[in-house]
Amino acid sequence: MFSMRRAGSGSERRALRLMRRALSFEGLRSGPGHIHIHGHRGARGILPENTIDGFRFTLDIGIRIIELDLLATSDGTPVVTHNPHLMPYSTRSENGNWLDGVGPRIVDSTPHALSKFDVGGLRPGTDYARRYPEQAFMSGIAIPNFDAVCDLINEPENRDAWLNVEIKSDPRHPENTPPVRDYVESVLAVIFDNGIDDRIILQSFDWRILHECARKAPDIPRSYLTYAPKPDAPMADNIYEESPWMDGLSLAAHDNNLPALIAAGGGQVWSPYHEDLNAEDLASARAKNLVVNVWTVNEPRDIDRMIDLNVDGIITDYPGRVQRQLLARGLTWQPDESLVSV
Ligand code: MG
Repeated sequence: MFSMRRAGSGSERRALRLMRRALSFEGLRSGPGHIHIHGHRGARGILPENTIDGFRFTLDIGIRIIELDLLATSDGTPVVTHNPHLMPYSTRSENGNWLDGVGPRIVDSTPHALSKFDVGGLRPGTDYARRYPEQAFMSGIAIPNFDAVCDLINEPENRDAWLNVEIKSDPRHPENTPPVRDYVESVLAVIFDNGIDDRIILQSFDWRILHECARKAPDIPRSYLTYAPKPDAPMADNIYEESPWMDGLSLAAHDNNLPALIAAGGGQVWSPYHEDLNAEDLASARAKNLVVNVWTVNEPRDIDRMIDLNVDGIITDYPGRVQRQLLARGLTWQPDESLVSV
């Protein structure tokens, strides 16, 4: 039995007599007429983050790159969630009650225990809920296993989709994740078992993770996430001398040129916070052949600035906004060559 949505979208695609072809890594660069959109945690501004419903929505509106976060459960299963603990502003227990405070750690939970929690809505009145006033409220939504997201992008209409997979790890809190080698191995096992290694970017703020990825799966591109030190930063910066996040690499040893450092470290992608990026650094990254994907760009003026700079990818909680702003300027979010006649 077909749902209306599936029947509708399928017949439209057949009528177009077009199909999308998965891009190669080189296709992830911006080009004449296009800048890529990465749906951050799916489309966090619109639907619950890091959920299958959010990812499916993002794919259904034509976005071909999904950004998501991974952690691991007590048995090492990679699961799609952002924080080391279940958070009270987004988690209800089996009886429907909001968590009183910070909940169990992901790494202490079995997949079965995690599956009992509902992450389909934001708790009214919390700061986090105020940040995403348009996010839909759903119930009965579990944290997905990474495997389930791989199944989603292996559905026939999504076989061109890429995943920008962030492996969450904090070198200051190693107790929140398995040992680096085991952790990376478990993530790569899911990727290879699902045959999607040619549609993956692996990203992390913790460059120890990326260097282990390079050792185990050198052909999968790696994206170096960066957040420069700044006053009153709402989260940990990771780029400074002797930073535990940088796996022993030194910015000073590369004339304080971050793109040069990333290229020397073996990265193919640089993913800076959007306010940290200027034209000079972007040119420097291009000279090193890096793809540049900026996070997390939600405000219209910031989206416009990133379009003006001509970054390769815009990671956003509001993919629809970026679509509209690209279209308003005669641009799109996927290269023409990704569409082929059938
Ligand atoms: Mg992320």
